[in-house]
Amino acid sequence: MVYGPAERDRHNTISGGDQVGYSATCQANCAHVELTGNPTLHGKQWISGRYQDVKGGFGVLGAVNGGKEPTGRHPFGEVFKVSVWDVDESTGSLSTALHFRICHRGGFLSPDLGCTPYFLGPVPFLSYRETEPIFVGLLDRQGGASSPAPIPEGVFEQAKAMGIPAAALPGYGDFFGGGSLCGKGPGGVDFKALAATFSSIEGDYGSVGSFVCNEMGNCGRGLGRYQYMSYRSDVRRIISQRDGGAAFLEKVNSGAAISRAELERFFPSTEQDRVFKADQTRNIEQAIREGFFGERLIERVGQIHFGGSGAPLDGGASDVHGRLTLKSYGETLSAQYDTALKAQGASACGKATGALVNPTPNARLTSDYGWRIHPIYRDRRFHTGIDLGAPTGTPVRAADGGTVVFVGVSGSMTSGYGQMVIIDHGNGHTTRYAHLSGFDVKEGDQIAKGDQLGRVGSTGGSTGPHLHFEVRRNGAPVNPKQYINI
Ligand SMILES: [Zn+2]
Repeated sequence: MVYGPAERDRHNTISGGDQVGYSATCQANCAHVELTGNPTLHGKQWISGRYQDVKGGFGVLGAVNGGKEPTGRHPFGEVFKVSVWDVDESTGSLSTALHFRICHRGGFLSPDLGCTPYFLGPVPFLSYRETEPIFVGLLDRQGGASSPAPIPEGVFEQAKAMGIPAAALPGYGDFFGGGSLCGKGPGGVDFKALAATFSSIEGDYGSVGSFVCNEMGNCGRGLGRYQYMSYRSDVRRIISQRDGGAAFLEKVNSGAAISRAELERFFPSTEQDRVFKADQTRNIEQAIREGFFGERLIERVGQIHFGGSGAPLDGGASDVHGRLTLKSYGETLSAQYDTALKAQGASACGKATGALVNPTPNARLTSDYGWRIHPIYRDRRFHTGIDLGAPTGTPVRAADGGTVVFVGVSGSMTSGYGQMVIIDHGNGHTTRYAHLSGFDVKEGDQIAKGDQLGRVGSTGGSTGPHLHFEVRRNGAPVNPKQYINI
């Protein structure tokens, strides 16, 4: 049902913003749409952002537009906000609109200024009539942003046509899932090679940098494979969404020592790669806009990573350690990128090497391949794979490169394989990874050997957290120990 602006005092809403939450109340001018469909949603109100503003943005840029943005939700993620816009009680119809924001992420040498409120708009979006389904996204604490739907085609073109600045349209890099660095960025840049290159300069997934403060007074440490600073807004957001993440950030930014295990828990490799892909996509796009290509494109991308988006071209400024300047950082990066591209060779994305690696290297063999007394059914059954015991959440890696052909539940959540990934290696071999607690790839992904597919769990017919690993040759199970050392 659609209600006009004469409505007042609405307290049962699913609209708001990232600073005020997604059940922001409304006192006056509460034009809204009232929802039903399931018990959770029944009677909820989505207030019109045309009539209600909420506090938005953060950091220095958070003050732009008076710190205000239209109330709304994030069913398509954080890139833009969806608001109910015009409501027409007489025809029972409503329109929705999108608003964008601009963020300024810092580097070693430039400050992180945060993000403006979502105030760039309105860009007209979908229209609805009473009784029609309306897309609200997942009812999480982030207005749906924790599980964003794919962004409809043409949205960014339309936003551009409406005059939304390019800086507010972050490109497709923001929507990659974590787990695999396979794929090409703008300008054909190979993410996997670029990541390996940064890693050769910065460290590995467990690296913790020394404690530094920049001239804006932000203090923290470089975290992980790409040494993203712990005070960056995108890094902060990812970490603070985890249980205990806020306390961890406080600890890091106060200068206390942190362990690799803490880093793995609060900023795991998949999240580091996710930030990397999104961030580098922006950097590459900026370098292309500035007119760079070929070798100099990678050099400039390195300068932007090192110095932030305002980094002067070929500048001589160095970081607090004084080991590299903007210019030398870019040059080092460019040279090593070529080496990394060549070194990739056989382990490239989507291709099998024929030599399998252990998907959970630190796990313990708890049940062998072959005939056994089944642990649940207590009868003699053939075990088509091996069981590798490891704590819930342990990363599960692809034994070889290939294409992800199945991600889902086989059997049920309490019987059979449970949550499983199947990879087709294209050489007559497939591998299965069962009882997972979560996924880091989707069907159709081209992945490389060692990419994270998911995490150990105990879904399906399982008595405790472990990975059931299976190798099939032309469809028939074979003993995985013929392929990997356990
Ligand atoms: Zn098993």
